[in-house]
Amino acid sequence: MPNSQMTPGIAPGRLQPEDYAKNFGDLYPPYDRHEAAVAADRCYFCYDAPCITACPTAIDIPLFIRQIQAGNPDAAAKTILSQNILGGMCARVCPTETLCEEACVREAAEGKPVEIGRLQRHATDSLMAKGIHPFERAAPTGRRVAVVGAGPAGLACAHRLAMHGHDVVLFDGRAKAGGLNEFGIASYKTPGGFAQAEVDWLLKIGGITVELGQRLGDGLTLPRLTAEYDAVFLGIGLAGVNALRAAGEEKDGVRDAVDFIAELRQASDLAALPVGRNVVVIGGGMTAVDAAVQSKLLGAENVTIVYRRSREKMSASEYEQDLAASRGVRIIHNARPVAVHGNGAAVEVEFEYTREGAAGLEGTGETFRLPADQVFKAIGQTLQGAPEGLALDGGKIAVTGAGRTSVAKVWAGGDCAAGGEDLTVTAVAQGRDAAEDIHALFTKGA
Ligand SMILES: Cc1cc2nc3c(=O)[nH]c(=O)nc-3n(C[C@H](O)[C@H](O)[C@H](O)COP(=O)(O)OP(=O)(O)OC[C@H]3O[C@@H](n4cnc5c(N)ncnc54)[C@H](O)[C@@H]3O)c2cc1C
Ligand code: SF4
Repeated sequence: MPNSQMTPGIAPGRLQPEDYAKNFGDLYPPYDRHEAAVAADRCYFCYDAPCITACPTAIDIPLFIRQIQAGNPDAAAKTILSQNILGGMCARVCPTETLCEEACVREAAEGKPVEIGRLQRHATDSLMAKGIHPFERAAPTGRRVAVVGAGPAGLACAHRLAMHGHDVVLFDGRAKAGGLNEFGIASYKTPGGFAQAEVDWLLKIGGITVELGQRLGDGLTLPRLTAEYDAVFLGIGLAGVNALRAAGEEKDGVRDAVDFIAELRQASDLAALPVGRNVVVIGGGMTAVDAAVQSKLLGAENVTIVYRRSREKMSASEYEQDLAASRGVRIIHNARPVAVHGNGAAVEVEFEYTREGAAGLEGTGETFRLPADQVFKAIGQTLQGAPEGLALDGGKIAVTGAGRTSVAKVWAGGDCAAGGEDLTVTAVAQGRDAAEDIHALFTKGA
């Protein structure tokens, strides 16, 4: 008998074949020309536009919207990409509801912002569909830079350095470039192989050699890189995962949410990907929401997110939480895991209710259990494999200014560096700014 949502345990093929394509299709289908024109018409083209200030990459939003309105999406794309070379991905994944769209004056006035993210996608998709790369590389400078990590931070850094005429070698430990764009972001935000297509498009600038399967720490060392290159940028993200610290977390069926999401993102056949009937996700950020929603979309019958603090303290935005609820995911607040029960494999998770006490979060002593044949840990990622000798700040690489680390000739940016939110757009901004700082040092000796 084929599997269904009711099949006990962790099983593949819980849905009808056609449901997978439907469930994992584009969250927001792209605007056509007319829809984009209508959306662009809502912009007031504000002077000192607050949306620009709210964008970590400071895209000139009123300018690009005006260019769309004037029927020139390619010019709009160039405006976007000159500030944010991953503007196509950011248009899909940015939490615009807490960034530019939250700041939009029409949000304040009417509770309905200009749909900046969707307009940005309209422009960047239009240019990329034509295969146009709108930037040219400056004459070669003879300078060589090693960029470690081909996620958003490393890609943005490499592209900006290449534009300035420097030669870049981009190392990554994985078999594919893209970082979490390729292995982390929810499938329905970036379907259709967009992450790899964007990497290929970005590399058209020239001057960037990509070396995959090259891990810093395994043969590739920081002293070697600083000896061989004029500068080094580290954009290695957060490869470690926090432990649950609950009894029984080693049982079968308990795994890191990021590994599950990476497997899902790389799956050629989603129907072959096993998922639990009763799934419990522990955490309160985007990773928790993505693991939960995608479990539900794979056919899990019951999916529950359990977060140890209140709804307001969840780092997943209200929009993300609502998205989860709209897909049938239940969210329980103010509870922390105590133990995973089961004989070898997870069967139940026991939680204790929490409250904010004088000394911080404390247990109330009252417990409850949730049935769980699959448990995802989504309680935060940590820096792993940072080279020795680099000063750290709060568990991340300490930086000053535009990503300068405590070691000469070494910069860092993105999730692995201290400061800023862990978002794709922030990683892009930091990679770009570090590249500009490196370039300034090369040219002016700044
Ligand atoms: C599940 C999930 C969902 C998310 N969803 C969103 C979202 O919807 N919107 C959003 O804005 N942000 C989202 N984020 C956050 C966003 O993905 C990150 O902030 C962003 O990818 C950080 O970029 P980065 O370049 O710093 O790191 P990463 O994207 O992590 O890239 C780091 C790269 O370094 C490589 N690397 C690591 N260690 C080494 C080493 N020792 N040697 C060589 N290479 C190495 C890795 O293979 C990887 O390619 C999400 C994160 C997760 C985990
Ligand atoms: S704040 Fe809103 S209305 Fe004003 S320029 Fe930005 S997008 Fe347009």
